[in-house]
Amino acid sequence: MKITDIRFGMLRVPLKTPFKTALRTVEQVEDVVVMVHTDSGHIGYGSAPATAVITGDTHGSIIEAVRHYIAPRVIGQDIANLNRITGLVQSAMEKNTSAKAAVEIALYDLWGQLYGAPLYKLLGGGEPVITTDITISVDHIDKMVSDSLSAVERGFESLKIKVGKDIGVDIERTKAIHAAVEGRALLRLDANQGWTAKQAVYALHALEDAGVKLELVEQPVKAHDLAGMRYVTERVHTPVMADESVFGPRELVELIRMRAADIVNIKLMKTGGISNAVKIADICALYGIDCMIGCMLESSIGVAAAVHLAVARADVISKVDLDGPSLCSHDPVDSGVIFNESEISITDAPGLGIRAIDGITPVTSLAA
Ligand code: MG
Repeated sequence: MKITDIRFGMLRVPLKTPFKTALRTVEQVEDVVVMVHTDSGHIGYGSAPATAVITGDTHGSIIEAVRHYIAPRVIGQDIANLNRITGLVQSAMEKNTSAKAAVEIALYDLWGQLYGAPLYKLLGGGEPVITTDITISVDHIDKMVSDSLSAVERGFESLKIKVGKDIGVDIERTKAIHAAVEGRALLRLDANQGWTAKQAVYALHALEDAGVKLELVEQPVKAHDLAGMRYVTERVHTPVMADESVFGPRELVELIRMRAADIVNIKLMKTGGISNAVKIADICALYGIDCMIGCMLESSIGVAAAVHLAVARADVISKVDLDGPSLCSHDPVDSGVIFNESEISITDAPGLGIRAIDGITPVTSLAA
């Protein structure tokens, strides 16, 4: 099974409700879909959203990186040599992690198709059912409380609450949601880099003193402020999770060396795909650090790959934040991963099991 071509499309899916964090507001999912063609007729699918304020990648940069740097290196390669090809992808250029992730996802899809097995089995197997949390966007307090209550009604047992806007209101937001759902849902707080280290300690102490028990607080300070992350980690009881501070294995090693966080959020768009995500999970397992698997606001193609990884590394990936598809108005992707509100399961279909993607449009000059 040799790679013959890489083609592109765009996939747009409206959200049920706008997604708001301290960094951005998004109205619809908009992914670049990467289709890796082979001489056997098999097609591997991968995808990546633009997340300029997180990874720096845009639709245009993703397509350019794949077209001019990654594709020329991998075309002609045999899928059976997966590790060799992922090495070529990772060394094709600096950064551009979303472009690398989109291609790797398609390569792992083909690898599963080559051996006729769902990806999670080739990654080591596991119980093919996981439970995800759901994101509550940052908004005025009443809206966040009602969104939280309706998520609990829909069966979600973990809520990821977006804060990081205004420290005083953030504390009130969290207290109000805690009071509304206490005993029915675990609360994860994501500040999306919106606080200073001192503000974070102040807010968490205020919440801890008020009896608000949080499962974790995510990325309280700026991505590059590892000293700030450590400052918070040393001073609060609530476990601190690194998201934007850790992209790949190198940042993880530095984070561990500094003891700057308790948990790490793995996202394929940050790691550059599955090969580095596996390395991060393995390093974390070695050091007894828990992982979350997360996603961007993206379609269920890339999220499906994350689900396979989460199942295969469930020993260390104990927290799942793969709510991208459940935030969308519908799922245009027919794959081997079934998203049913909080429960996500995998069928026995080979690779990612993608049979159809409804509504892929050509890449226009705007996107290119
Ligand atoms: Mg986050």
